[in-house]
Amino acid sequence: MTNSHTSGRRDARQEQFLTILSREEALTRFEAALFPRPIPAEERVLAEALGLALAADVTAPIDVPPFDRSNVDGFAVRAADLAAASEMRPIRLALNAETIACGTVPQSGVLAGTATPIATGGPLPRGADAIVMVEHTDPLEGDAIEVRRGISPGQFVSYAGSDIARGEVLLRAGTVVGSREIGMLAACGVAHVSVARKLRVAVLSTGNELVQPGEALRPAAIYDANGPIVSAAVAENGGEVSFLGAFPDDEARLEAAMRATLAAHDVLILSGGTSKGVGDLSHGIVGRLGKPGVIAHGVALKPGKPLCLAVCDGKPVIILPGFPTSAMFTFHDMIVPILRRMAGLPRRVDAQVSAKIPFRVPSELGRTEFVMVSLVEGQDGLTAYPTGKGSGAITSFAQADGFIRIEALADHVPAGSEVPVTLFTPQVRVPDLVIIGSHCTGLDLVVGALFRAGLSVRTLAVGSLGGLSAAQRGECDIAPIHLFDPKTLSYNAPFLGDGLELVPGWRRMQGLVFRAGDERFEARDPQEALGAALADPECMMVNRNQGSGTRILIDQLLGSARPDGYWNQPRSHNAVAAAVMQKRADWGVTIAPVARAAGLGFIPLAEEHYDFTLVSMRKERPAVQAFMDALRLPEINAALGQAGFSRAV
Ligand code: AMP
Ligand code: MG
Repeated sequence: MTNSHTSGRRDARQEQFLTILSREEALTRFEAALFPRPIPAEERVLAEALGLALAADVTAPIDVPPFDRSNVDGFAVRAADLAAASEMRPIRLALNAETIACGTVPQSGVLAGTATPIATGGPLPRGADAIVMVEHTDPLEGDAIEVRRGISPGQFVSYAGSDIARGEVLLRAGTVVGSREIGMLAACGVAHVSVARKLRVAVLSTGNELVQPGEALRPAAIYDANGPIVSAAVAENGGEVSFLGAFPDDEARLEAAMRATLAAHDVLILSGGTSKGVGDLSHGIVGRLGKPGVIAHGVALKPGKPLCLAVCDGKPVIILPGFPTSAMFTFHDMIVPILRRMAGLPRRVDAQVSAKIPFRVPSELGRTEFVMVSLVEGQDGLTAYPTGKGSGAITSFAQADGFIRIEALADHVPAGSEVPVTLFTPQVRVPDLVIIGSHCTGLDLVVGALFRAGLSVRTLAVGSLGGLSAAQRGECDIAPIHLFDPKTLSYNAPFLGDGLELVPGWRRMQGLVFRAGDERFEARDPQEALGAALADPECMMVNRNQGSGTRILIDQLLGSARPDGYWNQPRSHNAVAAAVMQKRADWGVTIAPVARAAGLGFIPLAEEHYDFTLVSMRKERPAVQAFMDALRLPEINAALGQAGFSRAV
């Protein structure tokens, strides 16, 4: 008995891990478990309905205008009296005693041969059927006017109900109330409307490593990005968010928090803890929160495979993957439509443009893949540049203009294919200047000057070689590079192809970095320091990736030596500094500004040349000229010098 119970539970768990559903199947099952359901509604005064969706159709309780009224300043008349009026034969009408202003109820009628003065918006008096504009009349002696042109019945009259007719459906359920809708409702005297109540969405991050922005970063900790991103995205989609912060991976605490939170909200969204790793608990807890429990755990999406969708006693519980990019894509693609439908909001419409893919983009067969892209103006039309740095990277989201979707059945997108790009913003923003290649903090100083001059600049950090290819394809204006050619023992120039030219940038001093106070390095010259490092078997180095200029320098220094740490080969100057600072290594080679910013000791070795490849065809563009001008500005050069870069002469 007891046995079958336990084994049943184990089977259920295994199933969760083994079944990867397609995106479509996961959505179909999730929707089937959630809908149909009533939309939670509430009454609100008009002013507080702004931005909310109407829960029911609103019918007009009155006619607008409520009475026949004049559209002009003039005289209420009987059209038949003026049938024969002309310039040659003006017709005289006797003026009635009353004057009808806005808000005046007419007391007497308009008899044949008479006219009553009336203001724009004044109610039509009994007997009158048209208005003569004051401009088409002349005053006469003895309370009379002369009319010089004929008119037809109904002229300049708005009839009751001609704008809005009583009983007509004014606004349909699901319409989001904006200022125009508020205007229509107000015109009918509607003071309260039934609107879909905002969904109460609780957002909670999980992970021992998470720290909230504003708090100090402990060793091995990272800032919680998902909590703030998901909260903001829920609010952007009309939800009311309670963000509960980040919870450590503690099953009892997490379960208690999830139960209490779910009771008080319509939806619970967690992130992290959904893979198979140590500390991944949330999906297990979800199974105990209510029926039917987990609907999908593992969806054929990239990024976003560990997504977990559950329904607990009618309420959706969603566990987004931990990596922020994965969390965002799955949230926007699969969760936003569900939340909007639950809230009675219309579907979100994303703007799309068509763009060319510059190179072959491989994709995993069997998973729907989302690839973020930056749009640049290519030689003919837009080019969509994949910007992904992997699902662990956050910056790609801010730099990207949108994304492309690669269907599960495709294993790549061929170079040069035209694809639809879903935009993150309503319009394409094509920048004035596109810089693709190796990044340098010195570049930020130059770009900053351009921004202040009102130019928009897009910089994509794809490394020197990536920049050169982009320049060759004419997709950027400038490609910053720092490539060392061991044959000619020179930088950059040997790598340039046809149609490209080199503009000198600056030099970056490279040197040995170490923690200040380390006697093996402090106050020594490079050869002595290296000798001490190699002589100490406890001394650990950090290397650089094959192909980087710094790596060539390191290999020259080491000769045939292979000290401990040689196989740790990060791809950036900053990663070398971080490894030494955090004591994962004792020394490495990086550039002076990075060493200085990290507070590390520094022994200068050699200068690296950081130069700019220009695409000759695009050289005359004003933004490129502005870049060249900025390079010559004395204040930019001073700032570069201050930051530790020396301008090549
Ligand atoms: P997990 O799904 O918990 O195994 O997390 C996968 C990865 O995402 C790990 O590198 C986590 O540190 C990271 N991660 C999880 N939650 C967050 C978060 N709220 N903000 C930023 N990164 C996160
Ligand atoms: Mg975790």
